[in-house]
Amino acid sequence: MFKDAVDMYIKIVTTFIFAYWQIYWWVTERQANRKKSKTQPRTWKSKVRYAIARIFPILIFFQLFGIIVVEFPRNIPLQIVGLLLVILGVFTSISARKTLSHNWTHAAEYQIKKDHELVTKGVYRYIRHPIYAGLLVAYTGAELILQSYLFIIVFLVIFLLIYIQGKQEEKILLKHFGKKYEEYMKKTKMLFPYVL
Ligand code: SAH
Repeated sequence: MFKDAVDMYIKIVTTFIFAYWQIYWWVTERQANRKKSKTQPRTWKSKVRYAIARIFPILIFFQLFGIIVVEFPRNIPLQIVGLLLVILGVFTSISARKTLSHNWTHAAEYQIKKDHELVTKGVYRYIRHPIYAGLLVAYTGAELILQSYLFIIVFLVIFLLIYIQGKQEEKILLKHFGKKYEEYMKKTKMLFPYVL
C-alpha cells in the first residue's frame, strides 16, 4: 500500500517535471528563432533526426501512463535515485538552455545562427554538451522510476546518439569559431565534468 502511494507520487511529480521541461522548450524555441535567425533551412536529414529525438519522450510518456515494458520488481530506493537523476538532468539542461540563450537551435539542425556567439560560461564552463548530458541523465532516471529494464538500453542508445551528435556539432563549431573553439575544447570535457 505504502509502496503503491510512493510509486504514484513519484510518477506524478515526474510527469509535471517533464511537462514543465517540454513547455519551457517550446516557449524558448520560439523566442530563439525570433531573436536570432537560422542560417540554413531544415533538411530531410534534420527531420529524421527530429523524429529519432522524439522516440524517447514518447516512450516515457506511454510508460508513465501505465504501459510499462520489461518491468523489474518494485524498488523504492531505486525510484528515488531515478527521481534525483530526473531533477539533475532537467535542471542541467534548462540551465544550459538559458545560458545558450538565442544561440540555441534544435540539435537536429546543426545550425550556426546569425551573430552566433560562442558560449563558454555557466554549465558550458565544465562540459560542451550539457543539454545532451541532461537528456541522458533525465531519460535514464525516468526509466528507473518506471522500473523498466529499458533503462540500460535507453542509457546506451542515447549515449551513443549524443556522442555522435556532439562530435558532428563540434566539427561545425570548430569550422566557424576556429582557434577559439579549439581552446575551449582543451579546457572542457564533452559530457561528464572531469571524466569524458
Ligand atoms: N550540444 C549543446 C547544444 C545543443 S543545442 C548542448 O548539449 O548543450 C544545439 C546548438 O547549439 C547547435 O546548433 C550549436 O550551434 C549550438 N552550440 C553548441 N555549443 C555551443 C556553444 N558552446 N556556444 C554557442 N553555441 C553552441
